[in-house]
Amino acid sequence: MSQRFSRVRWVWIALAGAFCASRFVSAAEYISGKVWPEPKVVQPGDATKPPSDAIVLFDGKDLSQWVDGEKWIIQDGVAIAHGGGIHTKQAFGSCQLHLEFATPAKVEGHGQGRGNSGVYFMNTYELQILDSYENPTYFDGQCAAIYKQYPPLVNASRKPGEWQTYDVIFTAPKFDASGKLLKPAYMTVLHNGVLVQNHAELLGGTFWERPPSYTAHPPKLPLALQYHGNPVRFRNIWIRELPD
Ligand code: MG
Repeated sequence: MSQRFSRVRWVWIALAGAFCASRFVSAAEYISGKVWPEPKVVQPGDATKPPSDAIVLFDGKDLSQWVDGEKWIIQDGVAIAHGGGIHTKQAFGSCQLHLEFATPAKVEGHGQGRGNSGVYFMNTYELQILDSYENPTYFDGQCAAIYKQYPPLVNASRKPGEWQTYDVIFTAPKFDASGKLLKPAYMTVLHNGVLVQNHAELLGGTFWERPPSYTAHPPKLPLALQYHGNPVRFRNIWIRELPD
């Protein structure tokens, strides 16, 4: 390398360095100024275990966390819907819920009569459970529908008898002291890992015989599982309360 080339090269390096340094000094980092609490450390779960901060509502042993749980059948670590609906002893508002279910392997009935159950958030807002594998019914009443409000974005149902998952983020509605609705409820649902409800704004409680509507209720209410005459099976149910 010639001496001249080397000198030119060093000049360029010095200029580039000065440019970078000036940018570095003049750039100011953006800081939001919000004082956040440190996010809590949580051990994530896996396909079979809940995360460390979840409230386990059914782990295969018993339904002691549920009112009327004794009506259902516990067999081989699974709870089978029987004799009536059940609801949690604890009340919940906004939450993250994980639940696994299987509609009967032996296909009986059709439409709404086949593998029907449901998850009622705050005992009021039903996320439908149904055997929707090649079983036509009204779309806003099929599996993963917010009953009579929104059909699922896609039908991600597995075959009858196969285990399926729901992962739900539910945001509780808010009412003022006079009972007026301030903020509606929202639901985001993954069915077997597939997004089927994307921050859907609920129109009110879900009813079979009348349109949805809101009636003021407390900020926390039990979570309920429906018995609709079909022996739908459940396992691995856990919930995490979410701040509003
Ligand atoms: Mg139902």
